[in-house]
Amino acid sequence: MRLNYTFPNIPQMKGFSVDVENVGDKLISKAHGSKALIFGPLFKLYFAYHGNKRLKALMKTEEGNIYSLYLPPMPSRAHVRHMETIIRNLLFKETRPLAATIGVTSRCQLECAHCSAASSSRVGLELSKTEIENVIQESVDIGVTNITFTGGEPLLRKDIEELVAAVARRDTVALIFTNALALDEKKALALKEAGLTAVFISLDSSDPAEHDRLRGRNGLFLSVKEGVKNAIRAGLAVCLSTYATNESVRDKKLSQITALAADWGVHEISVFDAIPTGRMIHNEEIMLTKESHLAILKEARELNRRYNGRLRIVTQSWTNTRSGLAIIIGCLAGHFQFHITPTGEFTPCDFTPLSFGNVRTNSVGNLWQKVIEHSAYRHHCQKCRMQMSSFREKYINPISPDAHLPYPIAMIDSHEGCAGVKKQGSCNF
Ligand code: SF4
Repeated sequence: MRLNYTFPNIPQMKGFSVDVENVGDKLISKAHGSKALIFGPLFKLYFAYHGNKRLKALMKTEEGNIYSLYLPPMPSRAHVRHMETIIRNLLFKETRPLAATIGVTSRCQLECAHCSAASSSRVGLELSKTEIENVIQESVDIGVTNITFTGGEPLLRKDIEELVAAVARRDTVALIFTNALALDEKKALALKEAGLTAVFISLDSSDPAEHDRLRGRNGLFLSVKEGVKNAIRAGLAVCLSTYATNESVRDKKLSQITALAADWGVHEISVFDAIPTGRMIHNEEIMLTKESHLAILKEARELNRRYNGRLRIVTQSWTNTRSGLAIIIGCLAGHFQFHITPTGEFTPCDFTPLSFGNVRTNSVGNLWQKVIEHSAYRHHCQKCRMQMSSFREKYINPISPDAHLPYPIAMIDSHEGCAGVKKQGSCNF
């Protein structure tokens, strides 16, 4: 596939374009126009990095090569939009989001103790299909190129295929997090048909009995295995989503999950840190130690080398520590990403139980602006805010254990007596 990338919305890049073609694992680019000498080398470097021996394509689809499930396939229209948002942020100092997670239902067949969506977010009327479609359009309008449906369990929504299609027809990548219980052959095919790119399936352990115990449902592990098979057969990319605890890092559980994932033909593994949120909001003892962050980073690096492009492991420790890519990526909240709960509350990320308002009474663009202008989010933060004691002391600890989540940040600010005006660029916690 060959695609011509142009950026008509960036005045400084008018007259510049670049042809991008996928040839096997690689991407070949050729710049055109009067500004080819200025911008061409940057694009050449970027595209040449994809498909080299350290970043092989995980999957080749009609939409383009997939190098990570966090990036749109390349070349694709979604990726043109992705590049536009990146350029506006990096070269022209704008702050536009790339990714949105949207909770489409609070309902779930399971009651996992570690669920980040748990607690009183289940109170209130869920967003309707029309409301979610509006949210999708408003998110795309401010730059989002990657929309992930979460829950609860998103597959419990009867209109999930229509929601996926609403994302895909806007040149945006649609992804779903699922526990796989409802991911049968028919559902996987229907989602692919609607335009879904990938499923993220939760797996807490490579040991069937342990996974079932942690999620309180016998036979769940088998559903995960079946769900992976059905998704791959349907042509979807598959990521296993798991989380790291100090114990799992010590026991090298990631290596065991990776062996299983390779055997099942999974494309990527996403490892989140155990974060005190949801039902565990005040259980800070679950947080990873510095040693665990470094250990999982090392284990993931070794595994990525060993599996050599057959599948990829992406850890939160890689994005949030200086030994990884924290200088560029860091905390995604209010930087690249936001979250909307099933009842429309707008939060900086799906792990942060702080509401900046509701999409029923405010636009996505205004709510995003509120986040990036708030003193807690107006600077780039290299670490996960939800794991920083200074952030938690100020914004999380004051939340009562029985409060409805997400909690309005305005209530915390009003207690503080300062709605947060600190110098831009400085870290205020
Ligand atoms: S607070 Fe930042 S780093 Fe932590 S989970 Fe949210 S987005 Fe990710």
